[in-house]
Amino acid sequence: MQDAPARFTELRRLEETVSGCTRCALHAGRTQAVFGSGDPDADLMFVGEAPGFHEDQQGVPFVGQAGKLLDRLLAGIGLTRADVFVANVLKCRPPGNRDPLPDEIDACERHLFRQIELIRPTVVATLGNFATKLLSGRPLGITRVHGQEHNTALGGSRVILYPLYHPAAALYTPAMLKVLEEDFARLPQLLSREVNVREPVAAAVVPAAPLVAEPAVQLDLF
Ligand code: URA
Repeated sequence: MQDAPARFTELRRLEETVSGCTRCALHAGRTQAVFGSGDPDADLMFVGEAPGFHEDQQGVPFVGQAGKLLDRLLAGIGLTRADVFVANVLKCRPPGNRDPLPDEIDACERHLFRQIELIRPTVVATLGNFATKLLSGRPLGITRVHGQEHNTALGGSRVILYPLYHPAAALYTPAMLKVLEEDFARLPQLLSREVNVREPVAAAVVPAAPLVAEPAVQLDLF
């Protein structure tokens, strides 16, 4: 297991790799790749979907309206961006902010898994359907699984996976915002749980509780 300075060096190397990545067609349309930002040693990591217009311009995740809501939600539990690490499933902006395509996720997921391996968070909060499905490895919609934590193994360490609604969806739906605030309020409790992330795990860990079945209808974007 690498010590913290070695992990941070590797993370900077990974950022350089991502900035020059041409593994999928999205590289052709990007202003820049959006690697992620925050504390490289964060206990709490958020994973969104993909950069939008402003993120592509500025090279930082969640800087638009959804990002402002994320900042407000963080402030509500006494945290700032500097306390957490924020990344996305895709590092490059899909044209017109369309949904990520399966081949784009396949091409890009290695970067996210390596980020998790190097940052070693104890809690990974997925924002919306794409991050939740990728990191849970299950085709379960966010409307059913939000707020249900689940012990698993990611990037070779044990983590608590915690699905949340995407802030962009909650921006325009007051009922969803209320649920997102309630789910967010549980984060400090999850962060204080004992999760032994210092021990590498050999294989995926069985979820703590079974997740419920896919809803018949779901919001695909979020
Ligand atoms: N939505 C996301 O999923 N990620 C961002 O970085 C911005 C908006």
